[in-house]
Amino acid sequence: MPIASDVLSLIGSTPMIRLRAASEATGCEILGKAEFLNPGGSVKDRTARGMILDARASGALRPGGAIVEGTAGNTGIGLALVGAALGHPVVIVMPRSQTEEKKQAVRLHGARLIEVDPAPFASPNHFVHFSRRLAEELNETEPNGAWYADQFDNTANRRAHIETTGPEIWEQTGGRIDGFASAAGSGGTLAGVSQFLKSKNPDLRVALADPPGAALYSWFTEGVLKGEGSSVTEGIGVNRITGNLEGLAVDHAFRIEDAETLSVIFDLAKHEGLTLGPSSGVNVAGAIRLARELGPGHTIATLLCDHGQRYAGKIYNPAFLRSKGFDVPAWLEGA
Ligand code: PMP
Repeated sequence: MPIASDVLSLIGSTPMIRLRAASEATGCEILGKAEFLNPGGSVKDRTARGMILDARASGALRPGGAIVEGTAGNTGIGLALVGAALGHPVVIVMPRSQTEEKKQAVRLHGARLIEVDPAPFASPNHFVHFSRRLAEELNETEPNGAWYADQFDNTANRRAHIETTGPEIWEQTGGRIDGFASAAGSGGTLAGVSQFLKSKNPDLRVALADPPGAALYSWFTEGVLKGEGSSVTEGIGVNRITGNLEGLAVDHAFRIEDAETLSVIFDLAKHEGLTLGPSSGVNVAGAIRLARELGPGHTIATLLCDHGQRYAGKIYNPAFLRSKGFDVPAWLEGA
């Protein structure tokens, strides 16, 4: 194996793993791309590297310039580590409701963390609007200016998946792939991977897997943005057509209830040695639904976005699960 010259080159080229129970239950090959093995622990390292390199190339981010972003956590962790490696100060704005483990990871990579109260997107206090204003202010005061990463509408995010995640899945499956299922936060992963895979095989079926409270399911099934309910998932579930989602068409859309998501990830942890975050549960549940639509004998890929340890205090915490009215698996009770 070659010696990496810096942490940026450790991002991506993640392995894929056959998900045994999901494959056996459907008669399909259901494959998960192990994004939790990225250096910052999530798929969003790819987005962070893609957006930062793009902004440095265009001059929007000057040498030593500050990087500012509003994030559910994983993008912030990715920006913090890539920023540190390239000599940029990083300021991350996160809703207080996100897990302590993600907040800690942002700090451990040397970034400044600002927590804000959760607010609806229409409110000026929503973390996205707050961070955009902060970037404008810091651009005036920081010695080398400040750049707002803007993962939702900056299409360098989607490009990172067109250029890395999509081609890797195509190569790893030898082009023998019939479907791709994914949840959406910014939409960069879903739109970018689908765009690449469909450019290789227009017959490939793409499925959106949406948690409760997100509006894309109703957008793709009824043509209206309607986000009802709430979810224990983090980092996914968007209520608007972001710049990264523009122009995307999907072949199937599934709404995945939290109980199903939790059942999928608890089984993967207990029986396959894969302890994953909740968005991976939504993704795998979506891949299973897609497999049922296509029938046995097909190969379907999805992403295992981040590690479950990042949610130890929440969805792997019996007290949290009980407070939300979910069943606690016996093995987790004794953990
Ligand atoms: N899973 C997790 C754990 C995430 O943090 C994110 C991004 N916020 C996603 C999935 C969704 O990825 P994308 O932004 O590319 O839609």
